[in-house]
Amino acid sequence: MSELREFVADLLERQGAAIEALAPDSLEVLAPATLRKQLGWPELAHLSFGTERAHGTIAIGLEGDWLDRFGTLLADEGRWSEREVRPPAAVLPPSDPERVLDRMLDLPNAVWRFQGMSATWTRCLMLAFRFTAVSDEKREGLIWLGFNLATGALVSDILARLRPTLAQMPDWHVPDLAIRQAAGPGWSAAPLAARLHPLLDWQVRENMEPFLRAMRRRLERDRNRVHSYHDDLRSASLKRLAALARADGERAEADRRRETLRVEAIEREYRAKLDDLRRNYALRVTVEWVQALDLYVPVQRFEVLIRRRKGERVVRLDWHPLVRAAEPPLCEAGLGLDRVRLVCDDKLHLTDPAGQAPCVSCGKPFCRACFPAACPRCRQAN
Ligand SMILES: [Zn+2]
Ligand SMILES: [Zn+2]
Repeated sequence: MSELREFVADLLERQGAAIEALAPDSLEVLAPATLRKQLGWPELAHLSFGTERAHGTIAIGLEGDWLDRFGTLLADEGRWSEREVRPPAAVLPPSDPERVLDRMLDLPNAVWRFQGMSATWTRCLMLAFRFTAVSDEKREGLIWLGFNLATGALVSDILARLRPTLAQMPDWHVPDLAIRQAAGPGWSAAPLAARLHPLLDWQVRENMEPFLRAMRRRLERDRNRVHSYHDDLRSASLKRLAALARADGERAEADRRRETLRVEAIEREYRAKLDDLRRNYALRVTVEWVQALDLYVPVQRFEVLIRRRKGERVVRLDWHPLVRAAEPPLCEAGLGLDRVRLVCDDKLHLTDPAGQAPCVSCGKPFCRACFPAACPRCRQAN
């Protein structure tokens, strides 16, 4: 709970409050008028963060709406920041770059050659999104995605390994001009959105899969229960109807009519119950951008010559000293989640295998990086 306490203390201090830490899990807050009004607190408030809450204190926890209320105080502050990070001690560059590349590159239809390695800086954009899925239950989660803006590589995994290290580095360095220049410019909104959306979509689906599986199981169970209940009622009625079929007379005729009406009512009720289930289990998913961090980090940059038929192209791939790992090669069409890349004939784009697949309509293979919108032969949209 101390992280929450520190966050609240920091936030309130920035809003002009005077803070006193009385015990490890409490704070005494002397709040200015605007803050008192926003939070509905007295002039001197005692906040408690522990499990034991003393009388007269305001209990602050992750449950309830406190985080939303503190979020309102923050508004858009802290949504975007930039930071320069260096390893605490010098890290030697890889002694055998070709071996590093050999592990990272898998190009079934092209050859590559290592051309050189140099120390430089790059800029990695780290983006956090919150997704919320609501059906009969609710699931929330955070998704982090990261791009190396100089090489175009997806570096979510590298940044995930870096995050604990970042949290332990108390000093926050803003990048200086020389490092900014070495790292190069950022991306404009359109190319970023084009890379981001399919990845985010995939990640949300991945993260929600256990939730969806459990939801489908509950839905299945409820549907079976509703079905078997109504099926029993209906079978009993149909049996009675069959028994009445051979009987004559007015009484039997009235019974038959009543039983027929009952079967119709059971069927109607069954359909209504299914509609209820459908409404109850309808899934609504929202994804919201929470935070962006521009990280300026040192790298060893590999230049790699790619050859396919008569074409040649040099691509860049970074080795990150902070986690002592190379990033995956860039992927110019498709998610590029593993390291296999196919190289296209015309522009030597690197794509994942699906990025060079045959057109679903006419069967002609084509490069989705050359033709992102539609098949060049039959114009069928991708
Ligand atoms: Zn086609
Ligand atoms: Zn291409």
